[in-house]
Amino acid sequence: MQKILRLIPSVDDCLLALLQDQEFKTIPPMLLKKGIRTVLDKQRQKVLNGDNVQPKDLTLPVLLDAIQQQIRTLHQPLFQRVINATGVIIHTNLGRSLLPGDTLRQLSDTSGNYSNLEFDLATGKRGSRYALVEELLCELTGAEAALVVNNNAAAVLLALDTLAKKKEVIVSRGQLVEIGGSFRIPDVMARSGAKLIEVGATNRTHLSDYRQAITANTGLLLKVHTSNYRIIGFTSEVKNRELVSLGRELQLPVMEDLGSGCLVDLSPYGLHKEPTVQEAVASGMDVITFSGDKLLGGPQAGIILGSRELIERIKKNPMNRALRIDKFTLSALESILRLYQDPQTVFERIPTLRMLSAPLEEVQHRAEQLAEVLYKSISRYCTVEVDEVMSRVGGGAMPEQNLASSAVVLQPLTITLNRLEQQLRTLDTPLIGRAENDCLVLDMRTVRSDELHLIAKGLGQVFASTT
Ligand SMILES: *Cc1c(COP(=O)(O)O)cnc(C)c1O
Repeated sequence: MQKILRLIPSVDDCLLALLQDQEFKTIPPMLLKKGIRTVLDKQRQKVLNGDNVQPKDLTLPVLLDAIQQQIRTLHQPLFQRVINATGVIIHTNLGRSLLPGDTLRQLSDTSGNYSNLEFDLATGKRGSRYALVEELLCELTGAEAALVVNNNAAAVLLALDTLAKKKEVIVSRGQLVEIGGSFRIPDVMARSGAKLIEVGATNRTHLSDYRQAITANTGLLLKVHTSNYRIIGFTSEVKNRELVSLGRELQLPVMEDLGSGCLVDLSPYGLHKEPTVQEAVASGMDVITFSGDKLLGGPQAGIILGSRELIERIKKNPMNRALRIDKFTLSALESILRLYQDPQTVFERIPTLRMLSAPLEEVQHRAEQLAEVLYKSISRYCTVEVDEVMSRVGGGAMPEQNLASSAVVLQPLTITLNRLEQQLRTLDTPLIGRAENDCLVLDMRTVRSDELHLIAKGLGQVFASTT
């Protein structure tokens, strides 16, 4: 064992050999050494474990190969691009919404340079960052005033903290939502110092339930859009207008957490009719909150709309400073909102909307294109078929909405499905599909045409190296 351990080259020898190669000269030495040590330690451990390690496995050229791979992996940013072939459009784990090219250029211009973030160019005096999107939001939605914060969870928290601290907030039992990542309405309520008063039954809540629960200590009536689940069957929910008139009658503010916050009607594209932001505003809600990166298709943000008086109070809450929106988000959000000014082109220009509305034939065409290439390149290693599948909207939006889609379905013959998926995640551009019945399903609704060659290349690489 000692004899074989002595065959393992020194870190310095490996380093010297690496530096012959131009590629590694520009990589920080600390990283090179880390890569070398990782590979050498692994071999040493193998020997110590009594695994079968041959002298030829420990020669410099053989180890150098593994070391180079290791360093390339270490040198890559941890936060990287992936290909989403899951068919889930607003995939929270894969970054929710994609930003259009024009938005990225705007973002780079305002963040790679100084900007008028809080500087009023007309007066030369200090300005407000919120002013940059407030007018746009009001024009697009009909709201009187607007404010943007870090995300919708922050928006709800801030609004509750401002309007209902130490007071009672009345919510229907059917709307006590949990969003992924443990955002639960009752917990947020507790954090904000408001007291949750549940009314009605899980499936049915009536206006009289709200009315009976109102006391001298009631601060707010809250409606939460059940964005990620549906209660179906014998159900009843109080309409916005009824809740609003109850609020007016008793001088209580009424707030709606819309969740996704859609600015366009998706029903012409065969999707369920989601309540739009404009409709919520028109119904008279005093405060409305929604996400920037769900159906809106923009950056992570929380948007708060409402009456001037209430939005002013929310702006002045010291907590707002801690939850405030950063300049990247603000720049991207302005750019996205501007795209909504042209309803003719918005479905083409915002990727989330484009994927939601893409006709089945277009998705099918991509599947057929990819299948043709894969059939030629990897049909030795797996079966290749095009199948009809169902995509999902995701992001906790439209839970029961299926979108007819088309996928390339691969059944690996030479390796297990698990191993295939694992290997695809280690590619330069990791490929994420979904596993179904021993097959890898690559749903083409969430894949762009310009990604097909990367998918083909990645699959070819994985199958060739594992067989
Ligand atoms: C998604 C969602 C939230 C949280 O929004 P984030 O922007 O992810 O913080 C809050 N409420 C509802 C109803 C939601 O659907």
